[in-house]
Amino acid sequence: MTIVMNEEPRRMVVEAAGAKVGGGHFGIIAGPCTVESREQTLEVARVVADNGAIMFRGGAYKPRTSPHSFQGLGVEGLRLLGEAKEETGLPIVTELLDVRDTEHVSEVADVIQIGARNMQNYPLLTEAGRTGIPVLLKRGLSATLEELLLAAEYVLKEGNPNVILCERGIRTFETAYRFTLDLLAVPALKHMTDLPVIVDPSHAAGRREWVEPMSLAAAAAGADGIIVEVHPDPDAALCDGSQSLELDRFAAYSEKVRQVAEVAGGVASAAL
Ligand code: PEP
Ligand code: MN
Repeated sequence: MTIVMNEEPRRMVVEAAGAKVGGGHFGIIAGPCTVESREQTLEVARVVADNGAIMFRGGAYKPRTSPHSFQGLGVEGLRLLGEAKEETGLPIVTELLDVRDTEHVSEVADVIQIGARNMQNYPLLTEAGRTGIPVLLKRGLSATLEELLLAAEYVLKEGNPNVILCERGIRTFETAYRFTLDLLAVPALKHMTDLPVIVDPSHAAGRREWVEPMSLAAAAAGADGIIVEVHPDPDAALCDGSQSLELDRFAAYSEKVRQVAEVAGGVASAAL
């Protein structure tokens, strides 16, 4: 389900396999941090599909701080994402971590995610741009908005206009949470560019109790969407469990966020 807000004719709408983000279309992208197993992936995909998500997220290649942490299922993870799409119809958002994986990732991804750590990996941005597949570009951990927009230019210059910008928290002196969610980036980026701007509250919060309030705040700030981590058993998750919403809470969460988006944006709600 997507919420159609007031007409904003100048704004860019990014469309991925039927799902629209930007230009008045607000949507929730949800799924686990990481594809762990067939059961986990399909279970989350079914629930988020039934409860208003417009796309399914899940990493097959994970950028982990420690080389000893789980790095993702790779090609097998991509195959499971393909299965999730086949079953639910939800477009797939998945990260491209390395130029060498471009071909495999392009076979499954409806949106290629470029992670925060790779925001300034210029050859990777160029490759992602060349695929022609929409790109979800996360803001780097210590990147200014101007640097984010210049990174987006690397994709655009390849003739790929479909870039979604994502604020996911930046590093500041504050240590009480994982990152500082810079919500002022939403109106500021919208002033600086016509590209859609979404918010990832999960990676900033680091704790699931703080994900809903920051999602509501992001929707109120005028974000074009939210990308959020959800897991059926967060305590057993292989990656980012502490910040993952419990699957059985997703329906209520989704409803609330979409209500705020509607209030912030104006008008009606329409099913995809
Ligand atoms: C993720 O989406 O799971 C992720 C690793 O995000 P980021 O690049 O923002 O840290
Ligand atoms: Mn994650």
